Amino acid sequence: MQLLPDLYVVGGSLIGLTGSQVKGPFDDCNVYALDIGSEIILIDTGNGDSWPTIQEHMQQWGLDTRKISTALITHPHYDHAQGAHLLQEAGITLVAHTYTADAMEKGDERCCGYLYHRVFTPVSVDQVRKDDEQFTVGALTVQSIHLPGHTLGCTGFLISWRGKKVLFSGDVIGTLGYGHFGWNGSIDFTKQVYIKSLLKLSTIDFDVMLPGHGLGSFTNPRERVEESLNEALMTWR
Ligand SMILES: [Zn+2]
Repeated sequence: MQLLPDLYVVGGSLIGLTGSQVKGPFDDCNVYALDIGSEIILIDTGNGDSWPTIQEHMQQWGLDTRKISTALITHPHYDHAQGAHLLQEAGITLVAHTYTADAMEKGDERCCGYLYHRVFTPVSVDQVRKDDEQFTVGALTVQSIHLPGHTLGCTGFLISWRGKKVLFSGDVIGTLGYGHFGWNGSIDFTKQVYIKSLLKLSTIDFDVMLPGHGLGSFTNPRERVEESLNEALMTWR
C-alpha cells in the first residue's frame, strides 16, 4: 500500500498484508519499501515466511524487487529480523545498530525465536551503525536514532522524504495504532532506559511516524510519543 510518493508498506500482519492476523499483531512486522529511484530500501525484513508475499506485493504495485539494495533493521526480534538471512542471500545489504547486529549474529534469546516456537537463523549484519549516526544509502541520507528500552538495540531511522520528516520507529512506540509502547517481554526490555528514550524522542521533530506494527501517524505523531511518555512515567516508576 502506498503511503507517500514512492514509499509503501509491503508487509505486516496487523494491517493484513502478510503473516497471520489470527495469531495476532506481532506475527509479522510492518515492512516498508522506499523507492529512491536507483534502488529500493526496505525497513525491517519481516519473519522470513512472508518474504515471497512481500515480493509479490511489490511486483503488483510496480516495484522492481531486483532494485532492493538495502534493509535497515530496527531491532532483532524474530518478527522484524528473521527474514534477514533470506534477504542477504538475495544480495541485499543488512544495516543495524551494533547491539542488534550482535543479537542477530548470535541468534540468541534476544531475537525471541521462542515466542514463535522457532529458532532464529543467525546472520552477520553487513553494516553496523553506532547510536546516533548519519549515513547514506545511495542518494538518501538516513539519521539513525538509538532508542533502547523495548530492546537495547532499538533504533529509529529518520529521513527527509518529499518535504516531510519521516521516522521509522520500530516497536518503540505506537505499535498497536495508538500512543503506546512496544511489547514488554523481551529479555533486554528495560523500563528506565525506555523512559529516557521516550524523553529523547519527544524532543525530535518529525511529521510522519511509521511504526513496526499497525497504522502510521500522518498528523501530530508527537502526540503519540507524549501519550506513551506519560503512561511510562505514570506506570513504570
Ligand atoms: Zn519487537
